[in-house]
Amino acid sequence: MEKKFWNPEVETMSISKLKELQLKRLKKIVSYVYENNSFYHKRFREAGFKPEDIKKLEDISKIPFLTKQDLREYYPFGLVCVEMDDIVEIHASSGTTGKPVVGLYTKNDLDIWAEVMARSLWANGLRRNDVLQNSYGYGLFTGAHGFEKGTQKIGATVIPISSGNTKRQITVMKDFGSTALACTPSYSLYMAEVAEEMGFNPKEDFKLKIGCFGAEAWSEEMRKNIEDTWGITAHEHYGLTEIIGPGVVSECKEKKLHINADHFLAEIIDPETGETLEPGEEGELVFTTLTKEAFPAIRFRTKDLAVYYEEKCECGRTLPIQSRIKGRSDDMMKVKGVIVFPSQIESAILNINGLSGNYQIIKTKKGSITSLSVEVEPTEERYKEGNLDDLAKKAEDEIYAILNLHIPVKIVPPQSIPRSTGKAKRVVEK
Ligand SMILES: [Zn+2]
Repeated sequence: MEKKFWNPEVETMSISKLKELQLKRLKKIVSYVYENNSFYHKRFREAGFKPEDIKKLEDISKIPFLTKQDLREYYPFGLVCVEMDDIVEIHASSGTTGKPVVGLYTKNDLDIWAEVMARSLWANGLRRNDVLQNSYGYGLFTGAHGFEKGTQKIGATVIPISSGNTKRQITVMKDFGSTALACTPSYSLYMAEVAEEMGFNPKEDFKLKIGCFGAEAWSEEMRKNIEDTWGITAHEHYGLTEIIGPGVVSECKEKKLHINADHFLAEIIDPETGETLEPGEEGELVFTTLTKEAFPAIRFRTKDLAVYYEEKCECGRTLPIQSRIKGRSDDMMKVKGVIVFPSQIESAILNINGLSGNYQIIKTKKGSITSLSVEVEPTEERYKEGNLDDLAKKAEDEIYAILNLHIPVKIVPPQSIPRSTGKAKRVVEK
């Protein structure tokens, strides 16, 4: 009989057993970084913290946080805990907002990465007879490589096509019979547009059934839009270069994000005070890698806002759950005292019949005052109908209903907003 979980022993372990395992691993990793890395050694000493202070899991709150700033300061190899000879792979973030974040892996780290990615893809429904079209950009970015490792660990086929050259993507999808697609959610919609231009019906003419999407904030409305367009089940993948890459959480059939908590210990903190919050409360996600050798992260502040739950899931997994990311605190905008995330505007737009998921938020700053406006494309059919002012008004009303804020909406012709084959640029500053 086919197994329901990739790693049943871990994925259905009781929460008390899991916590025992986490504590054992936490004690070990904290001593390990203290003994093998001068940054951690110094940081712990300055905080008056010793590895033997960890007696129970809650004692983790005695350890100082690790921030993106620390990683930049110790760029590129200052946080490495092994000899450089033991490193077998190096990745890096794009570094668009400063120095890139570097991810380093020993052989053992790569095995862990393949394991957690296999769990994630298995949870999405990927099996040995599947063909995964890997349309994340191959390069230093962790995305494509994580998906490749997990797919091959399962024994399924990977097509390492990378991003871009969209017509070729469609040809390959058709000719090679891709059953799963991995890329950014916005790119999958662009691919559907190109498939239609080439005379295909995305829903009927391909074997595609599973979508593995991530690296971009996207709303539930966007998920529905993608599922309806391609006739697939779309799954969220969450991960960070600082932690391991994709594979930090696995989304099950119930569309719940299970944290691979035997390897990654999650906490939720108040982003202002740094205090630990209870399960069910919204706050900033903090991760500790429990098993990584080359580049462990102890209490890394992700700046991602989410809720953490410890509850049984219908799928049978017992691993703790995190909500979808409400937004990165970096993406948060404050307009007339109201906190706005791009994903909230996306939800509003996609609630209106006749509007597409192609939009851009224009952010204008005058002194200390921020104002927003939205440009959005209607569908081709709706555009031909005319009466576009009416459509704009509907979108403005929907945004007002969600945010209690008036944001002007402009309807722009189809195909006028730039498409991306990677992360879509949703907010443009003027
Ligand atoms: Zn589940």
